[in-house]
Amino acid sequence: MDYSNPRTREQIYASVLEEMSTKCSDASFNWLFKNTIITYMSATRVDLLTPDIVGANTINKRYLNDLEEAFEKYMLNKVQVTVSSKTQAVQAAKDEEKEDDGKKYTAYDLRYNPNYTFENFVIGSSNQVAAKASFAIADHPAELYNPLFIYGPPGLGKTHLLFAMVNHMRAKNPHAAILYKTGEEFTQEMVDSLVQKSNIAFREKYRNLDVLLIDDIQFIEGKDKTQEEFFHTIDTLFQQQKQVIITSDRPPKEINLEDRLRSRCEMGLIADIKPPDAELRMAIFKRKSVDMDVDIPDNVLEFLAANIKSNIRQIEGAIKKLKAHSFIEGKKITLDMAVSVLSEYLKVAETQDNKIQNIFDYICKKYSVKKEVLTSGKRNADVVYARNLCIFAFRTLTDMSLKKIGGMFGKDHTTIINSIANVENRMKNDPAYEREVNLMLRELGE
Ligand code: ADP
Ligand code: MG
Repeated sequence: MDYSNPRTREQIYASVLEEMSTKCSDASFNWLFKNTIITYMSATRVDLLTPDIVGANTINKRYLNDLEEAFEKYMLNKVQVTVSSKTQAVQAAKDEEKEDDGKKYTAYDLRYNPNYTFENFVIGSSNQVAAKASFAIADHPAELYNPLFIYGPPGLGKTHLLFAMVNHMRAKNPHAAILYKTGEEFTQEMVDSLVQKSNIAFREKYRNLDVLLIDDIQFIEGKDKTQEEFFHTIDTLFQQQKQVIITSDRPPKEINLEDRLRSRCEMGLIADIKPPDAELRMAIFKRKSVDMDVDIPDNVLEFLAANIKSNIRQIEGAIKKLKAHSFIEGKKITLDMAVSVLSEYLKVAETQDNKIQNIFDYICKKYSVKKEVLTSGKRNADVVYARNLCIFAFRTLTDMSLKKIGGMFGKDHTTIINSIANVENRMKNDPAYEREVNLMLRELGE
């Protein structure tokens, strides 16, 4: 198995089915598994849907253990499998169906992640304001701060907090109309509704919610039409005393938004999340190793926490990598193993200057451009291409403010924001470009 390139759920499921085909006759396999599909998959849970209730019961009675073992083998995790039939599932979906559009937001919304809860969000000084405000608001929507605006660099738990809020609010009030969308999805839906002339339905949907959560609002930067629609959406919600929650990678004042929208965003509570300090990293490592069912000795945990610093997604990645290695080699995790397996995650404590220099060196070499040209006002396509990537790397990999980055290129912070948006947008639309950027971030030691 190639762990650097995780398998898609289709690939995992294909392997599981192959395994199951060896455990029952062809006739049973065709009846039970051929038309059975995955409706939900997370690291620890898989839901399957089968056409008839007798089939579901038979799988549950006879093949559940085999199925769980097969999934475990390919997912490297203890997995709980649930099998239900269409009739059961339709009922469950109906129970959960939201009024918003009647077909999309059901129990089988694939990205709805029940593993993201407040209970498993580890709190430290760098994230406690955001976490506590999220909890208070999920517990008392529209009674405290409106909107709640959470910002911080990627991988530090913004989406986790939003899902935790959704989970908490749904549990407390199953009938509330709660909608989670990314800034990108909101934009896309709005554009589609204009094309299909269904903008009234679009408005109805968004303006009749109890709670609207918009993740990564920075996506609507520079998009006037979307911003206008978004402004009226949240304005209507505020007037009806409905809760709005927004996240972004930066504070409202650094996002290129129309003034009235920016000031709306600033009207409630703004909470930031900073990179975790050593104590919080250690706590997260401990917690994740328990959640992910991996036995990691204390000295290894200390070593990891001292070396993996910037991003919590990396912490999970590191544990997964170690787990896979210990699984393949059939050995317990030791400090030596951690050192060798994680070498790519580890870097000597780099000073900021060092980092800046590395980024310039990398870009200049890879795109054959001189540093003086990169930081000049030259606007040839090649230079702009390299410059945007360079700016994006600074923003992602260093703590420099937009102003400081702008200073290095003789530009103001709006230009820097545009360069970053340019890279982000292109990454979304061009997979080859996305790979190029990700490779850059990896090579520069994200
Ligand atoms: P963001 O949306 O800020 O980019 P995510 O919410 O996607 O970040 O978080 C990345 C990963 O790190 C997720 O798997 C999340 O569960 C985990 N994570 C982040 N912060 C914490 C925390 N404080 N405690 C536990 N897990 C966390
Ligand atoms: Mg996120």
